[in-house]
Amino acid sequence: MTTRGTPAALAACILLVLPAVLAAQRPAPIAVPPGQAHAATLTAAVTTEPSVTVVHAGRLIDGVSDQVRTDVGIVVTDERITFVGPWDEARRQRPGARVIDLTRATVLPGLIDDHVHLLLQGDPTAASYEDQLLRQSTPYRAILGARNAYHALTEGFTALRDLESEGAMYADVDIKRAINAHEVPGPRLWVSTRAFAPTGMYPITTPNWELDLPHGVQVVDGPDEIRRAVREQVRNGADLIKFYADRRYFFDASGALRSWVNFTDEELRAMVDEAHRLGRPVAAHAVGKDGVEAALRAGVNTIEHGYGITDSIAQVMAQRGVYWCPTIFVNIYVAPGRSSDGNPIYGQMIAQERRAFASALRAGVKITYGTDAGGFPWTEPVASDFRYMVEYGMTPMQAIRSATTVAAELLGQQDNIGSVAVGRFADLIAVAGDPLQDIRELERVRWVMKGGTIYKDTYEPGRAWTP
Ligand SMILES: [Zn+2]
Repeated sequence: MTTRGTPAALAACILLVLPAVLAAQRPAPIAVPPGQAHAATLTAAVTTEPSVTVVHAGRLIDGVSDQVRTDVGIVVTDERITFVGPWDEARRQRPGARVIDLTRATVLPGLIDDHVHLLLQGDPTAASYEDQLLRQSTPYRAILGARNAYHALTEGFTALRDLESEGAMYADVDIKRAINAHEVPGPRLWVSTRAFAPTGMYPITTPNWELDLPHGVQVVDGPDEIRRAVREQVRNGADLIKFYADRRYFFDASGALRSWVNFTDEELRAMVDEAHRLGRPVAAHAVGKDGVEAALRAGVNTIEHGYGITDSIAQVMAQRGVYWCPTIFVNIYVAPGRSSDGNPIYGQMIAQERRAFASALRAGVKITYGTDAGGFPWTEPVASDFRYMVEYGMTPMQAIRSATTVAAELLGQQDNIGSVAVGRFADLIAVAGDPLQDIRELERVRWVMKGGTIYKDTYEPGRAWTP
């Protein structure tokens, strides 16, 4: 166990390093016309009057409808959307309100990534992972995590589900608290804290038995210890429980992607039962068929990675409403490094995942957008998976829904985020082109609003955009 810093120390470090960001966060949120730098506009005086803004969208993809609406007015009152409809009507309702001109853009709901690691900076090799756990303190990693959160927000991701801190204890909870307290800017977060694996089944391991090196998880064995550990994580702020279902992946003679299962069924049943008893969903890292099957026997809510999903597994997942986070780009990114590390199977898993994706689409599995960002460096686009989802068989609209309405349902937040509708948080983004024609437009988000506050504005009507 590697406690490297208190929450107070983390907060102090973030306060020291991000003064500009802090200034940009206070005081009250206020929206601005396009073309102005957002930081300067956020220094307006606090007011008790509701802040009303009308977003004038040239084209709107609302996350629910198949139809693209044109010339739409979206009225934002403080943090929430209070009207969506024809522009003329919106203008009539709010004649004096501030207008944001996005008439030449496509407006969408803020994007949601349901599988990231804010506390990781990419780990294509074992050495790159160990370097982070051995040479970086938890406060240092938390500072980078806060930076990553802000980075994701500026790329259009207004909500993230963080799928474990990889040895950085409860730093994910602290980043979430700092964002919610408006101390640093970032997306809405749902965090899983430390994740579980049994003794000896997750890095860092060493043949030197005299050393107890830091682990990337909370090591737990046996049903009673697991129940206690679930309670501990929930007490310390976990919104969900994550565990590693399998390891040691291999293809068998029939071509199926298999794996060694980490926990006994008895242990997993205790974990899922205790988490559900405390109102927390359970996410299973499960790559091979054996790991996915063990996770499904235990009654988990989501399968992460799931490259070994077969037709019959996909049907079970569809029947039970179990979500799948496919995390496509990360495997393509790490395959060369892991192959040269002596694990060529990562390269072979790319084609296998494409087959799994087709099985899941055919069966009607709820496929949600989840990238494993942090498994690849945050310098790569968080929107990297969209192009593969479309290449593997989704329509662009399906891919967009996976990161909006479907991703919000996975979080149980469909009444708050994931669509542009009355009552939802005003989490909106804009791109200059048409993402239904070129899904990679989502890698070029130009304008971002979260809860009525503008965090990015590189869109100017009638002018070409330059980065
Ligand atoms: Zn992950």
